[in-house]
Amino acid sequence: MPNARRATAGAPAPGDPAPRGRIGLARGGRVANGRSARAHGGAGDRNGFRDLRLLDVHKSFGPSKVLHDVDLSIESGRTLSLLGPSGCGKTTLMRIVAGLEVADSGEIHVGDRLLAGNGVHVAPEARRIGLLGQERSLFPHLSVGGNVAYGLGRATDRVARVHEVLEMVDLAGFEKRMPDSLSGGQQQRVAIARALAPRPRMLLLDEPFQALDVHLRVELQIEIRALLGALGATAVIVTHDQDEAFIMGDEVAVMQDGRIRQRGTPTEVYSHPETPWVASFVGDANFVNGVGSGSTVATPLGRLSTCCSVSGEVAVLLRPAHIRLLEPSAEGADGSATGQVQAMRFFGHATECRVRFGDEVLLARSDRMPSVRVGDDVVLRYDGPPVVAYPASVMAGLRRNGKQWRGAPASPAR
Ligand code: ATP
Repeated sequence: MPNARRATAGAPAPGDPAPRGRIGLARGGRVANGRSARAHGGAGDRNGFRDLRLLDVHKSFGPSKVLHDVDLSIESGRTLSLLGPSGCGKTTLMRIVAGLEVADSGEIHVGDRLLAGNGVHVAPEARRIGLLGQERSLFPHLSVGGNVAYGLGRATDRVARVHEVLEMVDLAGFEKRMPDSLSGGQQQRVAIARALAPRPRMLLLDEPFQALDVHLRVELQIEIRALLGALGATAVIVTHDQDEAFIMGDEVAVMQDGRIRQRGTPTEVYSHPETPWVASFVGDANFVNGVGSGSTVATPLGRLSTCCSVSGEVAVLLRPAHIRLLEPSAEGADGSATGQVQAMRFFGHATECRVRFGDEVLLARSDRMPSVRVGDDVVLRYDGPPVVAYPASVMAGLRRNGKQWRGAPASPAR
């Protein structure tokens, strides 16, 4: 039974087994006989992709419990970003889906096929799951055609299939090129073509852009996202990068300590995070204390509308882009919530100000050139949608996250 430690990334040498990313590349299943995957045509299974369902998956390594009760499903043709901090269990979960790790309990289904659970364990090479690790996973000594053909075994339609998948990723005619003569984006598309060649039912991409510089990464995120959409692929993208998760996923599942904490569209997760931890993991977050009453909450920045009914002591989420800074003399600045600018960072497209506000520091971000300077007194004004509030008690459990979490909540105006 496969229960190997994680595969390590690295350039394969001639004769090595398939190059392995962090998940490890399994050899694809045998090429299905008969009609081309394109012939399927239905919205739900274009190119042969299927949905994925994980039911109640648990996994421990020795005494340490790594996955708790994971339920997750992805409709065919959709891309899900699995987002979470390092060590939360993302790779372990994907290795279980790929069959490279065995869950203690739970079920994995792809389409109507049970791959694991209830005494079943389908071998990785028979699961028809395409795996992509980090971008340098091509065999450097094989041509593009050779790389793509890898995993097709002795299939009779190898040449035709290589041609077909290279066409799908817009690299028709590249068969004889060597990987080092391609751009990073082209290499990534070859890696996708290779994963597609054995007609997988779904794709798993584990931190596929991690090793790239920021410009290429953004370019590729957009390109690969469009490609997955055009292919109608069912795909899971593992990442610890919130921007990447939002760019790539039709939906995002946020994982913490081996549990899925929230799953939704990028907008839902960002705008209505279910816990303060999710709020601060998916973006910069300020929290201020509040006292809720129905659809409003009293905060140090005044009485604000809430998205849901609240009562009693709460912590209110304020995204930095929704805090406006006004000069005390500005029209409409009533001076009730005054702070002092402690530091500023200019990014070109935006400026970030840290404002001391009572005992706390709040972060405000604006896409306009601010008229304030470090040391100035400013009035803080909330200028955003109805706020999300959490029972004050849940804040106690929020672990500080240096980048996003900026101290204990500020208290409401008395
Ligand atoms: P990263 O983004 O850093 O790769 P991750 O979210 O993918 O992190 P995993 O690699 O799944 O996290 O690891 C989750 C936990 O399980 C970690 O504490 C890790 O040390 C542990 N772990 C993973 N594989 C094994 C193993 N084979 N034996 C023992 N512990 C393991």
